[in-house]
Amino acid sequence: MKKPKVIVIGAGPGGLAAALLLAKAGVEVLVLERLAVVGGRCSQLQIGQYKFDRGPTFLHYPCALREIFRAIGRKLEEEIPLVRLDPMYRLFLGARGYLDATADIPKMVEQIKKFSPQDTQGFEKFLRDNQRKFAPVIRCLQRPFERIYHYLSREALGLLPVLRPHRTLQQDLARFFSDPDLQVAFTFQSKYLGMSPERCPSMFSVLSYLEYAYGVFHPIGGCNAVPRRLAELAVQFGAQIRLNEEVQEIFFEGRRPIGVRTQNDAYPCDALVINADFARCMQRLVPDRLRRRWSNQNLERKRYSCSTFMMYLGIEGKVDGLLHHNIYVPPNYREYLKDIEERHVLSDEPAFYVQNACITDKTLAPPGHSTLYILVPVTHQHPNVDWKKERLRFRELVLDRLQRIGLKDVRSRIRAELIWTPADWEAWEIFRGATFNLAHNLGQMLYFRPHNRFEELDRVYLVGGGTHPGSGLPTIFESSRLSARLLLEDFGFDTAWLKPGPLEPPLVTVPT
Ligand SMILES: Cc1cc2nc3c(=O)[nH]c(=O)nc-3n(C[C@H](O)[C@H](O)[C@H](O)COP(=O)(O)OP(=O)(O)OC[C@H]3O[C@@H](n4cnc5c(N)ncnc54)[C@H](O)[C@@H]3O)c2cc1C
Repeated sequence: MKKPKVIVIGAGPGGLAAALLLAKAGVEVLVLERLAVVGGRCSQLQIGQYKFDRGPTFLHYPCALREIFRAIGRKLEEEIPLVRLDPMYRLFLGARGYLDATADIPKMVEQIKKFSPQDTQGFEKFLRDNQRKFAPVIRCLQRPFERIYHYLSREALGLLPVLRPHRTLQQDLARFFSDPDLQVAFTFQSKYLGMSPERCPSMFSVLSYLEYAYGVFHPIGGCNAVPRRLAELAVQFGAQIRLNEEVQEIFFEGRRPIGVRTQNDAYPCDALVINADFARCMQRLVPDRLRRRWSNQNLERKRYSCSTFMMYLGIEGKVDGLLHHNIYVPPNYREYLKDIEERHVLSDEPAFYVQNACITDKTLAPPGHSTLYILVPVTHQHPNVDWKKERLRFRELVLDRLQRIGLKDVRSRIRAELIWTPADWEAWEIFRGATFNLAHNLGQMLYFRPHNRFEELDRVYLVGGGTHPGSGLPTIFESSRLSARLLLEDFGFDTAWLKPGPLEPPLVTVPT
């Protein structure tokens, strides 16, 4: 059989995992990446001697990634050293102090008792409920939703008793915890999807369950170690990766792509895998006349996730009083979420996340120094916020707010710094700077999300956060496996080796 030529646009985690699987299957793979590094939003950022993850810092549910490695005959833990973090993170809840989220059930129950004695049963009930929900949710996310009648598939029907589509995540959690702060402790994970718990479907309670049941991990070197290793392996299996090559045009014959042009050259292809930001790539590279469901006009009307204001700081000395992951939740959390999603303004009391990675990983800073990664969820690009004006004001505000988690002397210890705003994300080819892609409301999920085998074109496959099953590393790796499988099927390859295996048992369970 003649090897099909496949071009992958973008070397983010989704593009690289797909490239690796396709190369393993014997396809001729060329990855074209506009940046000088691999990893996209999950790449490494180096400022002087300090190294940071640009985006993802939480690796949870490593099972999805493990499946990619298993498919190519390797073991995840042998390829990328992972440290399990326990406690997983410190959650600062205003004047009420903090809670160290741990999968050690008795320790967690003790902490819950301090916040709300009547809610101690809630934790185990929450775990039990999600234990039931988990397999149907994962099975559903592992299959493509290409036709509306796929909602009648065994996997989708299995979801019905647990899906509770009429409930939001916030409403669902109120069944287990009466204390509003504890509700936040188990719902803030919806921000991983760039959504507030008030809007997020209740099925996403599995996100916080995943942390407790399957652990939170730090790859040594940062999450960017994952795409870097995927890239090395893809090359070992025969893929070519060309950096600094931005795809500027796709050539179509009818609805089928026959090649692409970069600033340097033109390359023919039999199929295309798109990893670049979905909405941006459609507007830039796929003529509007070829799209109906995802026309430019429809893209404008869709809902998009929040964005993030980032500060990457190289710090002299150690940072005490913090864990590896730290999350601050302001007392006015609900109003703050409205600022992001409804009012599209900057809040004076934002929630924020601080990663103090050097307490786990000495490879990230010179001896005696540390890195601080600060992420503030904010509105995606909107006329209400002009980042040229706000950038430095907001920097000062965030540095002041660090006092809320006990960091008083950061300013004087900063030795390296980069500020990154939603305007920068947008300039990085991300539509509206919405860092977590299309929002994950039910109207934009499963069948209603852009399909893995892209429905508007022939021989075009999508991978990454913009397609099914969604944004977040585990779902992105699922998208790579799904899309690689569909592509290989279309070209007549055997794909049994890419079918999902049995679910791994959780590290933590409660008796049902
Ligand atoms: C700040 C931040 C924090 C996050 N934290 C987490 C977390 O803790 N845990 C988690 O699971 N997820 C997290 N995510 C979400 C998600 O995991 C990452 O965004 C992930 O990197 C997305 O991967 P992707 O494969 O969809 O695409 P990207 O990483 O966006 O990769 C797409 C690639 O395509 C390239 N490209 C674009 N246009 C072109 C073109 N025309 N030609 C060639 N190349 C092109 C881009 O340069 C990029 O390299 C976070 C995201 C952000 C931004």
